[in-house]
Amino acid sequence: MAATRTFSIIKPDATRRNLTGAVTKMLEEAGLRVVASKRIRMSREQAEGFYGVHRERPFFKDLVAFMTSGPVVVQVLEGEDAVARNRQVMGATNPENADEGTIRKVHAESIEANTVHGSDSDENAQIEIDYFFKPEEIVG
Ligand code: ATP
Ligand code: MG
Repeated sequence: MAATRTFSIIKPDATRRNLTGAVTKMLEEAGLRVVASKRIRMSREQAEGFYGVHRERPFFKDLVAFMTSGPVVVQVLEGEDAVARNRQVMGATNPENADEGTIRKVHAESIEANTVHGSDSDENAQIEIDYFFKPEEIVG
């Protein structure tokens, strides 16, 4: 199967605890390659747009506040079946339900401060990559 791409965010709870290297190592050990990466501070508008599908959810306001509370690292990851592979190594949204050895089981603080984001489909991966990266920033 050919390599595909997914989009990842290392969230503010991880940057605050100096875990960007530890998280990236787990992604790489899962067979994913970081083909683009940058550390940014998301604006409120950017976070609201990114999480637009959750706009009506009760946790939306808190989620936007959390995602803008500190720097994040946005990444494009490449590998065989990248979306599923990344979701697997991330673990369940709620770290209490995450499998042993997953990023969220090892590092997440709570269901909100859960260390990483990963796209949930190839279609959304492309939309999310385009939201944060210009083509020339993805260098392989
Ligand atoms: P992500 O989209 O960040 O990869 P996910 O796909 O596992 O995570 P979603 O259902 O898309 O989970 O929720 C997006 C994010 O919103 C979660 O990662 C988490 O930070 C936050 N979130 C989800 N559910 C809750 C909740 N019940 N309470 C607080 N925050 C939540
Ligand atoms: Mg999601």
